[in-house]
Amino acid sequence: MKRVFSGVQPTGDIHIGNYLGAMRQFVKLQDDHECFFCVVDLHALTVPQDPKVLKEKTIELAALYLAIGLDPKKVTIFVQSHVPAHAELAWLLQCITYFGELSRMTQFKEKSKGKESVSVGLFTYPDLMAADILLYNTHYVPVGEDQKQHLELTRNIAQRFNNRFGETFVVPEPMILKFGARIMSLTDPTKKMSKSDEDPYNRINLLDDPSLIRKKIMKAVTDSESEIRLDWDKKPGVSNLLTLYSLFTEMNVEEVENKFKGQGYGTLKKELADVIIEKLAVIQQNYKELSRDYVLSVLKEGAQKAEAVAENTLKEVKEKMGLILR
Ligand code: ATP
Ligand code: MG
Repeated sequence: MKRVFSGVQPTGDIHIGNYLGAMRQFVKLQDDHECFFCVVDLHALTVPQDPKVLKEKTIELAALYLAIGLDPKKVTIFVQSHVPAHAELAWLLQCITYFGELSRMTQFKEKSKGKESVSVGLFTYPDLMAADILLYNTHYVPVGEDQKQHLELTRNIAQRFNNRFGETFVVPEPMILKFGARIMSLTDPTKKMSKSDEDPYNRINLLDDPSLIRKKIMKAVTDSESEIRLDWDKKPGVSNLLTLYSLFTEMNVEEVENKFKGQGYGTLKKELADVIIEKLAVIQQNYKELSRDYVLSVLKEGAQKAEAVAENTLKEVKEKMGLILR
């Protein structure tokens, strides 16, 4: 079976961009792949976090993995910091990554822009991500479009390591949706929807209640025309809403355009809110039924399974790089 790895940061409220762009694919992959899904808490530390909130969000995200339909009997769900091999391999990979390569990463440029103090961890983030993926000899990495550049770098690092030290890592392939891999912010549709955006109206969270979902959709930015059609250049806001409708209903965009032909933005927004509320209700119900103890037990077992695989890879890497084993 081919291996799959992906991670989500517990940096805030999980939103429909995370779900549609990445997490929904996890559920589809679990039946015919060997999957590792991680709550990447070490990545979250690259920007300031409130320790108490980080702990809560870590458990919440693990619970959401279960609530969207991941089955811990089929997949390994774990917390990154529970498997020390991630941080260790990240260091080793930092030593074969060039400063120039990391300097070109757009996520670093965007997240450090205008900030007075930027952590070194934010700069070396891509090496930790490469470590996450390469430890499991991953074939496929389902992610949103914004992670494409980091995946390219991971591939380059894997190939470089294999060339220098002998065949070790599987060179992973990104799995990025052709449609829906970049959900845009509701308040500024030129930016992607993000957990860390200061404006809570930029996103709809998986755990938002129905009235808030409706409010956020009704406030979403559109344009001064009234035609409902997909046109990312001229109508990014409406295009984003159409995309969301299409993804949640699994209708194709032309069908959605036809459905709303001649109607106003108000109708599109109202119906979109209905659809989102209905789809998220299922996840929210599942979430409510999960106990904290159960989630913690899933994470404990997940860490043990992940560690067994990760330690093996790390050992091989250390030996090849010239470190002596204990
Ligand atoms: P942060 O703002 O803290 O970086 P985020 O919303 O970007 O949070 P991440 O935890 O960084 O979320 O990413 C988790 C997964 O969700 C990744 O696979 C990422 O590519 C995907 N993703 C994030 N935002 C979007 C989006 N707007 N559309 C589609 N996929 C997304
Ligand atoms: Mg992100």
